[in-house]
Amino acid sequence: MRQELDEALVRDFPNLYADRHNNKTPFCWGFECGDGWEPLIRKLSQEVEAIIVAMPEKERKKFRVKQVKEKFGTLRFYMGVAHDAIRAAIDRAEQESAQTCEDCGKPGKVRSGGWISVLCDEHEAERKKKR
Ligand SMILES: [Zn+2]
Repeated sequence: MRQELDEALVRDFPNLYADRHNNKTPFCWGFECGDGWEPLIRKLSQEVEAIIVAMPEKERKKFRVKQVKEKFGTLRFYMGVAHDAIRAAIDRAEQESAQTCEDCGKPGKVRSGGWISVLCDEHEAERKKKR
């Protein structure tokens, strides 16, 4: 994901993304996915940050993101600790990523052939040209 989008997420959700530069977690590599998923990650972040902010202050630091990446074509969003409401929000975002072009955010679908990716028709056509 491009740096300005990454920095904006970390700035806007300071509890959830407190470990962004902690090199003891894979999250020090940042958001390892395309820009097209930024809107769905932002929506998920709003939901989860709101849940965290409602907790007593000493509880909050347990609920931090450890890794965000693409795996087998779809979004993976790992936290050290989560609970049911957070888990449900993450599941929804991961499912949504399976229908969202990772490059541009338009409706897409899972494409196989080499690297599995979720792409819109346009970006799938572009990828095929490069092969
Ligand atoms: Zn696209």
